Amino acid sequence: LISVKGVSVVYARQLVLQNIDLSVPKGFFVSLIGPSGCGKSTLLKVLAGLEQPTSGSVSIDGLSPVEAARKRMIGVVFQDANLLPWKNAVDNASMLLSIADKSLSRAELRARGQEMLELVGLGDAAHKRPNELSGGMRQRVAIARALALDPAVLLMDEPFGALDAITRDSMGQSLLEIWQRTGKTIVLVTHSIDEAIHLSRHVHALGIKPGRITGSIDIDLPYPRDLAVTEDPEFVR
Ligand code: ATP
Ligand code: MG
Repeated sequence: LISVKGVSVVYARQLVLQNIDLSVPKGFFVSLIGPSGCGKSTLLKVLAGLEQPTSGSVSIDGLSPVEAARKRMIGVVFQDANLLPWKNAVDNASMLLSIADKSLSRAELRARGQEMLELVGLGDAAHKRPNELSGGMRQRVAIARALALDPAVLLMDEPFGALDAITRDSMGQSLLEIWQRTGKTIVLVTHSIDEAIHLSRHVHALGIKPGRITGSIDIDLPYPRDLAVTEDPEFVR
């Protein structure tokens, strides 16, 4: 589904990503791990179409990331939830959808927002404003907001980075459940090896040398899965 070939990114003469190859088959849950500054966020932004690679190519289901984003195929969650403070949870959850699809009525948007809040376990917090929610709850709203577009691909950049260990853990479990229920392709950037191993089936490590993907570890998930995951020998490098 996601194919990255020979991608390099140079910022102000600094080589951040160098010749990255990565492929993520449909329905896979992949973590990108690596030390601070190695280019994880940059790679995720390239996948999201928010950053143009200096060279190389990226395709998502045969489309460029910008085209894919336009077709609502990509949902993005960052470390900071970035909710609109004056809107309640349900309106925040449907916020991107309201921009993407102007034909939806307010009631339809609300219904979709509510459905997504329920998916992330926040069904009864619909009317709360961001300042009435905990950090973990705000992150759940941000995930609901991304899922409301029903994207094929969910890109997450340290979405639980600012949360305490217990909240992190329960958010991780929710994410697994969402993955299993929706069959989405998930790319999770994290600097926590624990989190990567616990949540994903494939872990790609970006090396100390900027942008060098040094390996890929195959993880057998410690819980039952109803998704058929096929081994792709080209994927495991
Ligand atoms: P962290 O784990 O700390 O989030 P990261 O792996 O996500 O790190 P990136 O944010 O991708 O790392 O940054 C990689 C490198 O690119 C860093 O050296 C950073 O200083 C540089 N960089 C990132 N964004 C820009 C930018 N917009 N302009 C110039 N340099 C940048
Ligand atoms: Mg980062």
